[in-house]
Amino acid sequence: MTSQADQNKTCGKLIVVSGPSGVGKSTICKEVVKRMEDVHLSVSATTRPPGPGEQNGRDYWFISKEEFRERIEQGLLLEYAEVFGNLYGTPKEKVDEALQAGRIVILEIDTQGGKQVKAACPDAVMVFILPPDDRELAQRIGRRARDSADAIETRLGGAGNEIAAAKQYYDHMVINEDLEHAIGEVMQIIRQAREGAAAGHDENSGER
Ligand code: ADP
Ligand code: 5GP
Repeated sequence: MTSQADQNKTCGKLIVVSGPSGVGKSTICKEVVKRMEDVHLSVSATTRPPGPGEQNGRDYWFISKEEFRERIEQGLLLEYAEVFGNLYGTPKEKVDEALQAGRIVILEIDTQGGKQVKAACPDAVMVFILPPDDRELAQRIGRRARDSADAIETRLGGAGNEIAAAKQYYDHMVINEDLEHAIGEVMQIIRQAREGAAAGHDENSGER
């Protein structure tokens, strides 16, 4: 049986990364996992259709609403939420496997999901990415050229709620103005989490 101490250690290896749509979460997280060997980025399941260039299994697991509902009923999701009219959730099995292999796991999810993870795992490390300002956020969503005009409007409209929720549940705020700087800050937060979770054990840094 897993002791309370072991569970706390594992929880300390969960890094939740949230932020308004278009702020740069995926860009930052994908770069962090390239540079830190022991960090696994969870691939979420979603009912939204793939955007241009998005690949099944790399960006998301794109599944139907029926499949999503089945996964909820079977208890296969660590957390899930409806965001901008679509369902998004974290497949539990892959996260458990990575944690058992001693890896740190990043969950790139919204604040509703973040709140669920924090409730189940109070030691999870909560990181919120902020844009330098609203204008820049709007430009980034537009530049990504993935969403329709309607989708962009909905996403920008959601930013205020996300930021308000972040103030309640999140431990770290990272402003993504200069990308390299933001990546460095997230990596530093992960290093701290790694040290905290190791709780005095000698471990390799796991960085490339
Ligand atoms: P999110 O995952 O938060 O929705 P993305 O990672 O898809 O956001 O980034 C949205 C757009 O912003 C992409 O075109 C990305 O290249 C760009 N971007 C990310 N970070 C920066 C930055 N610091 N400066 C300028 N553009 C950025
Ligand atoms: P997008 O459609 O722009 O890729 O993502 C929309 C929103 O859904 C983002 O805020 C993103 O963080 C969130 N999201 C992505 N995957 C998950 C997930 O597994 N769970 C939850 N709760 N939110 C997610």
